[in-house]
Amino acid sequence: MPTLKKIRDTMKKQKINGEIMEQMDFEADCNNPHNITSLIDKMDKLLTKEQCLSIMEKQGCCKGGQRDKDCKAFALEHIDKPFSEKLALMSSIQYMMSPCLNDDGTFTITFGGYQNGVHTGKTTCSCGSIKKLKQPFSISPTYCGCCAGHFLYHYQNALGVKLKLKEINSSPLNTNGEKPCKFTFEVLG
Ligand SMILES: [Zn+2]
Ligand SMILES: [Zn+2]
Repeated sequence: MPTLKKIRDTMKKQKINGEIMEQMDFEADCNNPHNITSLIDKMDKLLTKEQCLSIMEKQGCCKGGQRDKDCKAFALEHIDKPFSEKLALMSSIQYMMSPCLNDDGTFTITFGGYQNGVHTGKTTCSCGSIKKLKQPFSISPTYCGCCAGHFLYHYQNALGVKLKLKEINSSPLNTNGEKPCKFTFEVLG
């Protein structure tokens, strides 16, 4: 889950203008998901899309544990393979999905999301606090950049490259749980 403090630290590192920083409420209670979503609404309003993406790609949940180990082991095992071959093999790691290589060299990951509401068949991001929200709701898809940050972290380790979040293609957050979390990453080398 992206915490307000972590977002603040990232924004400081990225030298976001002080006047904008002053308009953000970083001290609010993180246990209330609405405090995070209202901060993200402000980011959408005050920052460029590119700034929002570069802040959110630094968030991301579940960076430790088994997935971390699996991705680092994958990196060693496939170190000599070309990038496209490694990318195709990513689906062999549990929960890393099946990335799709695009013609322009970027690649796209589709994550079905977390089933939120057994009876509704709706999905949402698997971020801790978002899971608690009751359907129906609509919040900024920028929040979905936290999911993207999760994949960015693990994919960088597994593939041995630097990545950049280029686009949040779709999200369950603003589509009434109908669309998956879908992101496109650029390979920086
Ligand atoms: Zn998250
Ligand atoms: Zn998401």
